[in-house]
Amino acid sequence: MYTTVEDDKARPAGGWPERNVIVVGASAAGLFTAANVARGGRPVRVLESRPRLEPAARTLIVTDHFRSQMAVVARQSVINEIRRFELFTDGRSAQIALKKPDLIIERSRLIAALARDARHAGASLCFDSRFLGVGANERGLRLEIESGGKREELHADSLVGADGAASRVARAAGWPPVDTVPLVQAIVRLPKDCPPDTTRVWFVPDDTPYFYWLIPESAERAALGVIGEHGRDTKRCFENFLEKKKLDPLEWQGARIPVYQGWVPVRRQIGKGEVYLVGDAAAQVKVSTVGGIVTGFRGALGVARALLKQRSREELSALRRELGTHWMIRRALHHFAQKDYSQLVDLLDLSARESLGEIHRDESTRLLWNLVRRQPRLLLLGLRGLLMGNSIRNRGPLSPPG
Ligand SMILES: Cc1cc2nc3c(=O)[nH]c(=O)nc-3n(C[C@H](O)[C@H](O)[C@H](O)COP(=O)(O)OP(=O)(O)OC[C@H]3O[C@@H](n4cnc5c(N)ncnc54)[C@H](O)[C@@H]3O)c2cc1C
Repeated sequence: MYTTVEDDKARPAGGWPERNVIVVGASAAGLFTAANVARGGRPVRVLESRPRLEPAARTLIVTDHFRSQMAVVARQSVINEIRRFELFTDGRSAQIALKKPDLIIERSRLIAALARDARHAGASLCFDSRFLGVGANERGLRLEIESGGKREELHADSLVGADGAASRVARAAGWPPVDTVPLVQAIVRLPKDCPPDTTRVWFVPDDTPYFYWLIPESAERAALGVIGEHGRDTKRCFENFLEKKKLDPLEWQGARIPVYQGWVPVRRQIGKGEVYLVGDAAAQVKVSTVGGIVTGFRGALGVARALLKQRSREELSALRRELGTHWMIRRALHHFAQKDYSQLVDLLDLSARESLGEIHRDESTRLLWNLVRRQPRLLLLGLRGLLMGNSIRNRGPLSPPG
């Protein structure tokens, strides 16, 4: 039946045993879920629509939290370390020295390392296998897939959708779609005046309510990127920005990223089977910075524990709190005008910058409290941003969660 399935020799004689789990999506969140579930003793298969493990290159920045999540995998995917942030807006700037360096990861290395780890734990990876739909059968779930150009049916007791922002699993199981924004990055030569351990961030509210960044991946190359709201405008602004900085793109990277607008419940029941979502499929993305790797892993760990009937509530509740804080920060910043960003950078005195350097953005609640304790005027600025946004918010993708 599985002529194109790479690891099908892993299938036990007589078919798959009880309590089998199918994960859709062999990327960050799916492979991490699979490794954890397999390690806990449940049989796991990962279905991936791509013909082979050939993840697109992508330069990513994560906090030091990634090391504690990943152990060995981290060592195989980190390509640079960032010790300093420089923030720019309208001729002003602020520098933040990081106590624990941020990590630059090459996504294709990360996915390859996660795939090795998942296989080592006992998961089976099936390529050229596209998930099409799900329904109930007498034991659990009946999945419809297309594998090697042929339609097939599979049985699973549990299904995990790790199939990204446009998740078909979510759609098939009845979750509403998540809003997305375009993210585009160009690989450029590292400008001579930029040290390889320094990330630059520019706030240009006329171009985007988010920001531009330059992330060095080595002493020679960096990723210059932007998050926007509308694809065409974002591309135009980005091309102007590249020109202004006199940088030529060597390669392009990009995709749509979910905008977190409130917690997406991760589990649904279909008949006797259960369906879960992890990673971008569940919008587990820090909407302040639009980073989804560390938070996607936290969601994956929570769901893996739920599948293993271990304590999952703590991990998922902590993730929910974390995503909620980023949602509030984004709401405060989203309608900032140039003068607000100028004030923000002016308010970052030594004490506030120390806070930002000591506590990373994957501990956002602690970071926020620490920041406003050291610089209370930031709280007023944030509250003003929240009030400012309230009148216009209903129109944009950042409308309040239902
Ligand atoms: C250019 C760029 C830069 C980024 N930078 C950062 C950063 O610096 N830091 C950070 O934390 N995050 C960053 N992100 C976000 C981060 O990459 C994502 O949040 C993360 O990769 C999501 O992982 P995922 O496993 O949930 O989903 P995805 O990586 O989207 O994986 C989904 C997988 O499912 C497969 N699939 C889809 N549909 C089906 C189907 N029907 N059947 C079978 N398989 C299917 C896909 O082929 C894919 O392999 C960036 C994103 C982009 C695009």
